[in-house]
Amino acid sequence: MEITIQKVAPDKLKKKPSDESNLAFGDIFTDHMFFVDYKTGKGWYNPRIVPYGCFSVDPAAMAIHYGQEIFEGLKAYKADDGSIYLFRPEENIKRFNRSATRICMPELDSSLFMDAIKKLILVEQDWIPKNQGTSLYIRPAMFASEPHLGVRPAKEYIAFIIVCPVGAYYKEGLSPIKIYVEDKYVRASVGGIGEAKTAGNYAASLLAAEEAKAKGFTQVLWLDASQRKYIEEVGTMNMFFVIDNEIITAPLAGSVLHGITRDSAIQLVKRWGMKVAEKAISIDDVIAAARSGRLTEAFGTGTAAVISPVGQITYRNEDHIVAGGKMGQLSQRLYDEIVGIQYGKKADPFGWRVKVN
Ligand SMILES: *Cc1c(COP(=O)(O)O)cnc(C)c1O
Repeated sequence: MEITIQKVAPDKLKKKPSDESNLAFGDIFTDHMFFVDYKTGKGWYNPRIVPYGCFSVDPAAMAIHYGQEIFEGLKAYKADDGSIYLFRPEENIKRFNRSATRICMPELDSSLFMDAIKKLILVEQDWIPKNQGTSLYIRPAMFASEPHLGVRPAKEYIAFIIVCPVGAYYKEGLSPIKIYVEDKYVRASVGGIGEAKTAGNYAASLLAAEEAKAKGFTQVLWLDASQRKYIEEVGTMNMFFVIDNEIITAPLAGSVLHGITRDSAIQLVKRWGMKVAEKAISIDDVIAAARSGRLTEAFGTGTAAVISPVGQITYRNEDHIVAGGKMGQLSQRLYDEIVGIQYGKKADPFGWRVKVN
């Protein structure tokens, strides 16, 4: 399928942000977007890059009522020599289609999807910021657009991609976060939709995050839904703990998102000869290790922050300082390695980089 491109007239282009060191996350959108329609029986049709703008959506659109919506998040990085790179975009495309299948939405053809990302990035390449740590965030999404109020999978969908320039996640180096172990609310349960990047999971997480923020915490650490015992993940990041030199992360057992940064971190530490385990670990074991000094590091992984070191874990009103409240050695090494690969500064032994231009 050929993607048509309708460009904004040069004199109608938006003003680009003048201060790259002060870009917030997700406030500024570029001049164009990608858009494609779906109807049962017809399939996907009319893929196009058009001027950025509002949708016309029927108030009965099924996504608004029953939540058939999925999304992805990845970034385009500009190297010093002007090369533009994506990081493992095929993984985002696969995950998008797995999310789609889980909530009865049609899969998007992966070659059309990749083509759409690359073409949109090329059209918007002047929007990719150049400062250290900045990038162009890419947000693909799909929602049920069919106007209908009976509960069943919709027969019409819109998939689209918007992009926005984003700043370095950490303005003053990597500062460790304080996390609150949530033992009242849950994010997702095995058998539910926790593995899908779908809107409902984020709606489910908001109240706990707001309550934790009001108490001074950056993020919530989720426990498993049935026993409130085993570690799941943090906000929009997967979690890792280093205990007795073993790097531990929750297994992908149904309620945890299959993070691409998580997978990259696992592959890297294996390559470095470190001991890593995907296994259930209880909050009691983590706290006991923190008390006895055997928990040497904790960090989250996700596209936005790459690696987010944890400096404090609070469980049942008790604060536990991790790694002296500082960035740990492994967190720093992983951050440097992944960012180095993303910006074309380090060798790419796994073939993770995809050049766009
Ligand atoms: C997106 C996301 C992650 C991180 O995934 P990456 O592919 O590493 O960006 C982790 N947990 C949740 C709930 C997420 O939505």
